[in-house]
Amino acid sequence: RKNLWWLSTGSKNLDSILGGGLESQSVIEFAGPYGSGKTQIAHQACVNLQCPERIIADEKLKEEILDNPKAVYIDTEGTFRPERIIEMAEAIGLDGKEVLKNIKVARAYNSDMQMLYAEKVEELIQKGENIRLVIVDSLTSTFRTEYTGRGKLAERQQKLGRHMATLNKLADLYNCVVLVTNQVAARPDAIFGPAEQAIGGHIVGHAATFRVFLKKTKGDKRLARLYDSPYLPDAETTFRITEKGVHD
Ligand code: ATP
Ligand code: MG
Repeated sequence: RKNLWWLSTGSKNLDSILGGGLESQSVIEFAGPYGSGKTQIAHQACVNLQCPERIIADEKLKEEILDNPKAVYIDTEGTFRPERIIEMAEAIGLDGKEVLKNIKVARAYNSDMQMLYAEKVEELIQKGENIRLVIVDSLTSTFRTEYTGRGKLAERQQKLGRHMATLNKLADLYNCVVLVTNQVAARPDAIFGPAEQAIGGHIVGHAATFRVFLKKTKGDKRLARLYDSPYLPDAETTFRITEKGVHD
């Protein structure tokens, strides 16, 4: 793959287990239980896209990325917080309101809207918007509530697979970072609960390039574990989430 670039998470530790940061041309899944920091990482990524020091790319590519870069935030749970963006931005010396202007938030109330918004990103890019970060927070919540029970499992997996294909295509074709979140129980391999584990975990697992499992430990400390990456070793590290945002 050519022209790869990396977006810092804000934590050197976390960047390091990811091989340099959030890698372009890939779909990166942050999984973990309630309150583990998935949405905070997604917010911080939007802020960091506006910070030249937090973009790792060779000179020419970096210039292209920094030409009015925009993030798309597909919010399925109504947890996007403009005030939090401003707080994180100002903590690193950026103008919070300016950062907010460069985030396109799309509230998706169901899986069809979610899938449609992901498809629409391509149109925005073709119209000339420099979209470099696409977030789906959360990837799985709408599918989980709409397709319950065994009878709907196949349909759900098929749709989720199609959605992941859309996201992978965006990442590859337009050299974007795609970040998705997935609320899961305490064990990283129990992505969809026991009955569906094999199928559900499989679809997201094979469609995501990087998978990071998050866990809240003491106070503001978080544990992150990279697992099942095609070319990086499993690795573990810690970082923090404070009023300043995501950092070591
Ligand atoms: P869910 O599965 O419910 O969506 P999540 O993994 O997205 O959970 P987050 O919303 O990212 O969880 O994390 C929430 C936690 O982040 C809070 O419990 C708190 O510890 C921390 N946090 C959020 N905002 C702040 C802030 N302004 N200052 C300090 N810590 C904060
Ligand atoms: Mg969340």
